[in-house]
Amino acid sequence: MSEARRGPGRVKEVTSLTNPIIKDIRLLEKKRHRDETGLFLAEGMKLVIDAIENGWTLRTLIYAKAGRGQDHVEALAARSIAQGADVLIVSEKVLGAIARRDNPQMVMGVFEQRWLSPSGIRPSGNEVWVALDRVRDPGNLGTIIRTADAVGAKGVILVGQTTDPFATETVRATMGSIFAMPLARLSEADFIAFAGKWPGITVGTHLKGAVDYRKPDYTKTPVLLLMGNEQAGLTDALADACSTLIKIPQAGRADSLNLAIATGVCLFEIRRHALTFDGETS
Ligand code: SAM
Repeated sequence: MSEARRGPGRVKEVTSLTNPIIKDIRLLEKKRHRDETGLFLAEGMKLVIDAIENGWTLRTLIYAKAGRGQDHVEALAARSIAQGADVLIVSEKVLGAIARRDNPQMVMGVFEQRWLSPSGIRPSGNEVWVALDRVRDPGNLGTIIRTADAVGAKGVILVGQTTDPFATETVRATMGSIFAMPLARLSEADFIAFAGKWPGITVGTHLKGAVDYRKPDYTKTPVLLLMGNEQAGLTDALADACSTLIKIPQAGRADSLNLAIATGVCLFEIRRHALTFDGETS
């Protein structure tokens, strides 16, 4: 529902775990329910404010009774109601059950998911995009989204069957970058067709890569960096779709790096060459 068409939200106090609204929110733990509703849960005052300020649609604001009388919580509640979101004031028990952990954040929000449509991926200029082949681990995906945000990448493209970026664990690991980093999803076949038309360089990472990751000419922007699955690496078809296959040289006994670490190493190397990014902070 668009913000413009929504009337003011309603306020409810809920203390029971059997309340149907709470049951529904708790189901957001399940991917199937997130897919069906197009919603997800984000925890923490800062995250909820960042999300609203980035234009994400808040459906429900949830806060602990202890937040009553706290100016910043009540100001956020008033803002949420004005934007059409419902506000639930809940007991500690209910809050802990929604977060599924002890000592949960005092404030949480249920937001509408947002995906970039394939036609919305329009690489240009000195942009850097990251593509992930069948990423499986929620912590890896969250860390990569956060890192992509930190280097000023333009978006993250999920290729094939991947873990859900809107899972609570992934959202947590992004530390708020979920609200700043455009996300798209493509099948492997669509990605290969898309990469074939890429206007700059397409760089795949591979343990058998022939090129040291510091060697490609990353000024041939836009840059598309493709990372492989945690267990299997890149499929042969995806590796063939890249103009260059790079490798990060390693010493010691480890046969590979963690996916999120390898992504960070490559992104910051690319960043050194691919000019400066908007909004850079020192
Ligand atoms: N057994 C897998 C293989 O043979 O490719 C290992 C995959 S590794 C854990 C997951 C991904 O991290 C790789 O597909 C690649 O994208 C990236 N990666 C890890 N170490 C790397 C390295 N030394 N050089 C380049 N990419 C690396």
